[in-house]
Amino acid sequence: MNSKFKSVTRLSIVFILAVVISGSILTYFGINNISNLKELTEKRILEEEKELSTRFLLALQLEIEEVTFDFNYEIKPTELLKDSLLKIANNHDFIMLPFILKNNGQFLYPNFGDMIRTLSETSFSNRYRSSFRKGEKTEFAKNDLKTAKKYYLSCLSYSVGCNDSVKALNALGRVSVKLNEDENAISYYNLIISDYCSETNVSGLSYIYYAIPQLFKIANPNNCEQILSLVEFCLEKIEVGTIPLNSGTEELLININRWSEENTFNNPEKLLHINLLENNINQQLIFINEYGNELLELIKKGSPDNQLNVGNGFRVVHTFSGNNQKLLLVNTNFNNPIGFLIDGKKLFSRILKTNLQLGFDFDYIVKFPIENNSNSKGLNLNYASQLNPYFPGQMIQIILKDVNIINEIVKRRSWIYGFSALVLLLAMFLGVALILRDIAREKHLERLKADFISNVTHELKTPLTSIYMFAESLLLGRVKSGADRKEYLSVILREIERLKRMINNILEFSKIEKGNSQFRLVNSNLASIIVATIHDMNYWFEKEQFNVVIELDENIEAEVEPEKIKQALGNLLSNAIKYSTHTKKIIIRLFKKEKHIYIEVEDHGIGIEEDQLSKIFEEYYRVDQVESISGTGLGLTVVNEIIEAHNGSILVSSKKGEGSKFSIILNQ
Ligand code: ADP
Repeated sequence: MNSKFKSVTRLSIVFILAVVISGSILTYFGINNISNLKELTEKRILEEEKELSTRFLLALQLEIEEVTFDFNYEIKPTELLKDSLLKIANNHDFIMLPFILKNNGQFLYPNFGDMIRTLSETSFSNRYRSSFRKGEKTEFAKNDLKTAKKYYLSCLSYSVGCNDSVKALNALGRVSVKLNEDENAISYYNLIISDYCSETNVSGLSYIYYAIPQLFKIANPNNCEQILSLVEFCLEKIEVGTIPLNSGTEELLININRWSEENTFNNPEKLLHINLLENNINQQLIFINEYGNELLELIKKGSPDNQLNVGNGFRVVHTFSGNNQKLLLVNTNFNNPIGFLIDGKKLFSRILKTNLQLGFDFDYIVKFPIENNSNSKGLNLNYASQLNPYFPGQMIQIILKDVNIINEIVKRRSWIYGFSALVLLLAMFLGVALILRDIAREKHLERLKADFISNVTHELKTPLTSIYMFAESLLLGRVKSGADRKEYLSVILREIERLKRMINNILEFSKIEKGNSQFRLVNSNLASIIVATIHDMNYWFEKEQFNVVIELDENIEAEVEPEKIKQALGNLLSNAIKYSTHTKKIIIRLFKKEKHIYIEVEDHGIGIEEDQLSKIFEEYYRVDQVESISGTGLGLTVVNEIIEAHNGSILVSSKKGEGSKFSIILNQ
């Protein structure tokens, strides 16, 4: 009983704790979150947006610094310098173009050739000059192409330098085209392109500008692949600056483009490469066009103080031409000023690919509007600022990815709050119900204990009165015959035994309560234990004139403590006697069934109501009897505990007014 009570009390404490904890959680959520949640979330979003903008700017700075720190001061010859700048540009996809200038502002790379060359015809030999003139005369005035070709061939033999050779080759190529000598023409132009591509005429124009349009004239399906390769070679040379750009380059590119579109080729990769080269060359042209004058001005003026230094001698030059998404990194500390054109768009998208939003609670979208179109009227969760000092005029705008998230958070928290409140309420109700039940139980137990004391007193008094009466009669010599005296003494003995059984029950119960009850199991013959118990009870059976039927399987043995089994069986028999008021018949059985041993005590007494059956094993519990039969309410409790200690169980079946059957079931 005690232990059961303790667990109930523990349960109550757990529930009360649950009430307190869920109450605290609810209060915490209630106070801290719900009321201020919207405000706090908005604040957090704005903080994160600002932080994201700062992180972006920092990343921008780092990327730009990385470009400048990749540059090595020591590299001196222009060719090497160009290579090193191109290498840096290749490593940073946002560099559109590196550039090298002369200190007079002219471009070294991209190489833009001034067309005014001072190459004079005096550099050619007299024989060469006269032959060439004759060749031109017969070619253009007389239209005698074959003779003209002979003159040009003799020029070739009179050539002393590259200039005269390439000039003669060019004329030979031209005449061959006119003569429809395709193969000859290709071989002359091939020579010009492969050996003399950087040679220029008196106007400073590379001969490839003549060669390529001529080649297109004689192109046919048999030779167009060969011509495509020559075009590719020329474009490569233009791109790297070996052949300078000039005002005719754009037209040349248009020609190439048109020709390549009109013809079909087997090699798509080559065509792609040619497209790429064209794009790059175009970009160089655009760059020179857009920034040439500005850079010239810059070099003339020197370095103004307001330009941003970004390390390693480089400065950020905000260009007035172009849009806000480009900047120039310029270093004028050398004889040859150098620099890079940076594409802001590519730089931004590169930075956006890095993990800028790490550790943020929310997701954001970063935009780069040209104009400041952030409407800052009323509540606005979008952060906008300028990308100063790198891209002034360029806005960075940060927008919350999911605008509904604040409402969702508030809703979610409200649900948690509501749910916790419900749990708290339920826990409170349950806790109160449990406490009330505990109290009711405590009261009930108190009453049962009070009843128990009066019952025990009564139970003790009855046998003691009998013992006293019979002992007194014997003492005063009122009993004369020997047989009567024997009868009196046997009554005294039985009453003492009854007392003993009752006291044993109380002692056993007390031990059970304290957890001291110990059992020493020995292999025993159950029939002999039952017979001994019946023998002890014989006096009462006879006194009450009971018809006792005994059906025992005498061979059943089990691991039991005989005294305890006797006590349990004694209690059952004593109850059968007590609660059989009319039909006095008791059947005692011992048998085996499916690995179990059954000890049954069946009576035809007053029986028990069905709803009472589960309660009769509870401590101190007694059914309110119509006939007032005395008892303590401990007998069946002790039986139950003893049988459970033997790993057995006890069953009862009963019908009010018909009798009861108690079955002790032991494992074999
Ligand atoms: P008690 O000392 O009152 O007999 P028990 O624990 O032995 O205490 O029994 C509990 C209650 O069970 C009894 O008060 C009685 O109402 C009921 N009971 C026990 N055995 C019988 C039985 N053989 N026939 C009818 N009722 C019984």
